Amino acid sequence: MAYTGRFAPSPTGPLHAGSLVAALASWVDARAHSGRWLVRIEDVDTPRCVPGADTLILSQLAACGLAPDETPVRQSKRGALYQAALSSLMQSGKAYPCGCARADITLALAAAGQAQARHAERVYPGTCRPERGGLRGCEERSIRLRVDEQDAAVAWADRRVGQRQQDVARAVGDYVLRRADGLWAYQLAVVVDDAAQGVTHVVRGEDLADNTPRQIYLQRLLGLTTPEYLHTPLVLGSNGEKLSKSNCAEELQPGLVALKSALSALGLRADAGSVDGLLASAVAQWRQRWGRDRRWAAELSLD
Ligand code: GLU
Repeated sequence: MAYTGRFAPSPTGPLHAGSLVAALASWVDARAHSGRWLVRIEDVDTPRCVPGADTLILSQLAACGLAPDETPVRQSKRGALYQAALSSLMQSGKAYPCGCARADITLALAAAGQAQARHAERVYPGTCRPERGGLRGCEERSIRLRVDEQDAAVAWADRRVGQRQQDVARAVGDYVLRRADGLWAYQLAVVVDDAAQGVTHVVRGEDLADNTPRQIYLQRLLGLTTPEYLHTPLVLGSNGEKLSKSNCAEELQPGLVALKSALSALGLRADAGSVDGLLASAVAQWRQRWGRDRRWAAELSLD
């Protein structure tokens, strides 16, 4: 199968050092496999999108020599694809309407003696499942995926992190596919798009690794092929916290210096004086690393 990789930024602000590492890793992996590299603008969460951030991200990538092989697609234009997937899940009884607001879920969890620690993942208690009476006259708010206990164990091998597993029913429960504000949930959009674009290899930051079992579970229900996954190490700021758009005060200045630090975050030598030279050397090093020993993470102490 021909390799297709992608970088899928949400245009909620400019690229930062952490997102450049993910972009670079996905580009290098694609080039090292002589594959296709796509950029997909994930602008479904419109309230969080910042006008102009998409073009800024593309120009920052270009300044680092990372040019997509095709015109980037935008998720905001792909609602019909997400709707088709949702309709098929609803028809097969795998998705159902939910009328619960956050407060209803908190109350139901407390009543079941499952008060959650703050910030912990809240497992939906299944209040609106059809077998429990469905909406019972409540107004529909969101649409949830039914995560059945008997097939919810997902195991996969991350190319860097190794064998992982999660029981999606216990860890997450029935999760949202279309949000109460009418917007498409990230999980649905990313799974539909990765399949529609023929993505064979997902390379992205480790902060997204937690979502992978949910995505694999959904791929299985939709009869889609599961891509290979590689989650790259997170870049920590000087305060030891993960770099993100919200805590990274400095906007990334794309070019040689930014590229060099992204390379070193991936354990690659920055041994050339130009953007093109750095990238060519990165591809050669990446090929060698994978050719010699697929367990490159352990070898380079990236964990
Ligand atoms: N749009 C997501 C983000 O910017 C990344 C999605 C993905 O790579 O699967 O965090």
